Amino acid sequence: MKSKTEAIIISSMNLGEADKLVTFFSLDRGMMKGVAKNARKSFRRFGAGLESFTISCLHLHEREHQELARIESTDIIKQHSSIGCDLERTAVGAVMLELVREMAPLGERNAPAFLLLSHVLHLLDEGEDPRYLLRIFEIKFLSLLGYQPKLDHCLSCGIQPKGDVVFLGMKGGMLCPECMVSSGGPQIRLSQGSVGFYYQALRMDMDKICRLKPSATIMQELDQAFSAHTSNILGKRLKSTEFLKSICTLSGQI
Ligand SMILES: [Zn+2]
Repeated sequence: MKSKTEAIIISSMNLGEADKLVTFFSLDRGMMKGVAKNARKSFRRFGAGLESFTISCLHLHEREHQELARIESTDIIKQHSSIGCDLERTAVGAVMLELVREMAPLGERNAPAFLLLSHVLHLLDEGEDPRYLLRIFEIKFLSLLGYQPKLDHCLSCGIQPKGDVVFLGMKGGMLCPECMVSSGGPQIRLSQGSVGFYYQALRMDMDKICRLKPSATIMQELDQAFSAHTSNILGKRLKSTEFLKSICTLSGQI
């Protein structure tokens, strides 16, 4: 069966002598994998259409009971070529794509998640603050996949606290100051500013959020909370976050 789909290329790996194994997030069918035969030799058919961050129309050929589609050719819709020209933007983009690859289930359509990724990659390409975009993307993407942490009431007593709270990555929620019991280990604290910003980010559309200027403390608190939350869901840390951290350390941002 032949079909075509609009897709964001997540990754593209060499397969054997001449082929490529491509992972892509498509608008109408969610996460998919396919093989592009002779892609390493045939630039005419594929060009840059199989590179990470590119949005392409993929022409597919699928057979029943075969997990991998065959990618016959591509038409580039949007290339996002500025992302690869800057190390921090590349690193942030890599974290976003890894998050999608690890979290989005294969073959499950999620058009709002596709449109969010497409919009965020466009803004990253245009030069918006990369790490700010990553925070917003994490918040909105996890919510669209059903992993939205609940930060409006204490998991233990149910009240809406006024002061700082402790984020519980294991439960995707928080405890109020009254219910916190120190375990001796490090705690992830969230100020009311961070909780307020989190709910604003969930509600607002991307263009409006980009006009907000939250403090560095809010960004750092949400970074810690969402790293813990994602690690708990996946049972591991995202590999690309280490790359991003080393770049931020080099540029003195941490
Ligand atoms: Zn409580």
